[in-house]
Amino acid sequence: MSDTKYKATIGLEIHAEMATVTKMFCNCVNNPDEEKPNVNICPVCMGHPGTLPVLNKQAIKNVLKMGVALGSKIADFTEWDRKNYFYPDIPKGYQISQYKYPLITGGKLNGINITRIHLEEDTAKSYHDRGDFSLVDFNRAGVPLMELVTEPELHTGKDTADFARELQLLLQYLGVGEANMEKGEMRIEANISVSDTDKFGTKVEVKNLNSFKSVEKAVNYEIERHIEVIEGGGKIVQETRGWDEDKQSTYSQRLKEDSHDYRYFPDPDLPKMKISEIPEFAIEVLKKELPELPWAKRTRYEKDYGIKEADVEIYVRPGIISTFFEKVCVDFGGDKNLIKLASNYIISDLLGLMKVVNGENLGQLTDKGFAELIKMVAESKISSRGAKDILKMMFEKGGSPMEIAEKEGLLQKSDESELIKIAEKIIADNAKTVADYKGGKEAALMALVGQGMKATKGSGNPQILKEIFLKLLAK
Ligand code: ADP
Ligand code: ZN
Ligand code: MG
Repeated sequence: MSDTKYKATIGLEIHAEMATVTKMFCNCVNNPDEEKPNVNICPVCMGHPGTLPVLNKQAIKNVLKMGVALGSKIADFTEWDRKNYFYPDIPKGYQISQYKYPLITGGKLNGINITRIHLEEDTAKSYHDRGDFSLVDFNRAGVPLMELVTEPELHTGKDTADFARELQLLLQYLGVGEANMEKGEMRIEANISVSDTDKFGTKVEVKNLNSFKSVEKAVNYEIERHIEVIEGGGKIVQETRGWDEDKQSTYSQRLKEDSHDYRYFPDPDLPKMKISEIPEFAIEVLKKELPELPWAKRTRYEKDYGIKEADVEIYVRPGIISTFFEKVCVDFGGDKNLIKLASNYIISDLLGLMKVVNGENLGQLTDKGFAELIKMVAESKISSRGAKDILKMMFEKGGSPMEIAEKEGLLQKSDESELIKIAEKIIADNAKTVADYKGGKEAALMALVGQGMKATKGSGNPQILKEIFLKLLAK
């Protein structure tokens, strides 16, 4: 923000499609990847008269799980409401949603209070970019859609994007939704206001945000715009704005005056529910079904294993590398030192090797082979330089690290008696360096170790060589 006397406030409304087997109120397949239009449809989700909706238990359970994970209050009672409006993507003339009795209220994510989470049905998808006509694809109509509303407690573009990222992570951990923003599986509306008093300023809502980066940029853009308008003596009008990715700016879409009165009323076709009386929706039951949550995983990696925060963020995102790392943790039985060492090689070497194959696979590397390699480093059987070379070979061609080390002559000589003989000869041949060391020149010791490495063609363990020299020279 260019001027610190202004305080920006942001509240979010986030829609996320649920990854259920079927749609919210019918038996049609819920497949966001279906490319052929209008194949996953039936009279119910097409809004034909005389059809009746049936509730999807999995979708409700998904939202309840979100609530349990966020420490929210699970509704005791809930009902479904009709949100009335006309648009070609909503053929019934109303959307089934929840108004007065959302499934979830309260709870926190990233320190931000959640107002509510409710469940509704997604609309069909309109295409206005195909010519002098519009097309509607009903595959998406009736897909279970969760809406989460936050309290106005965010203050920067970065915090807003981070909140959205954390929500995506939670949805993915719970297996509730993929929440891919580019695919529209998660849609964010950011309400932004700016004020220089302790009252809120007029809020503007920004839509069309299809990446975390654009969330951050649009929020920051709006904050700057509000400040400029206020500074210029103007007034912010309450409106909905869109984010133009090409122009990197927001533009007005509609003013608050043309906002609808949706005339919500309870849908008579659907049963009212007493959640507390449904055994499988009991909090204790839902709790047992929760996996390890992102924040618990962070604590385990950071506090228990001592992994750096930035590296933890890599492992906490679902993907090839996090699955691999978790397997390595299991292979090491939770041994902190080995896991930390393994993480260093993953971050500084393995990720680089993966980049060559677009980060899409681990080549020929297995977690067991990798764990064996790390153990060899920990036991000083190979040098760290040798480990890097072996890792590359394992990635490209596979194989056991021990066999590769033997074949490539990378096993470090740790056999003391042999190293002692070599060290004795070096001491005899380098009288000046020895004198330097005895005269107080510490660096001379490392020069002798260097000689030892050379004499063993790099296979001498430098740590052990150093100890041998120290012992021999102390005599
Ligand atoms: P409306 O009645 O216009 O729908 P709500 O009070 O229901 O407004 O809030 C909708 C969203 O706007 C919520 O995410 C909320 O946090 C956010 N919001 C409300 N007031 C402000 C404000 N002054 N500045 C930023 N966001 C706000
Ligand atoms: Zn259907
Ligand atoms: Mg509202």
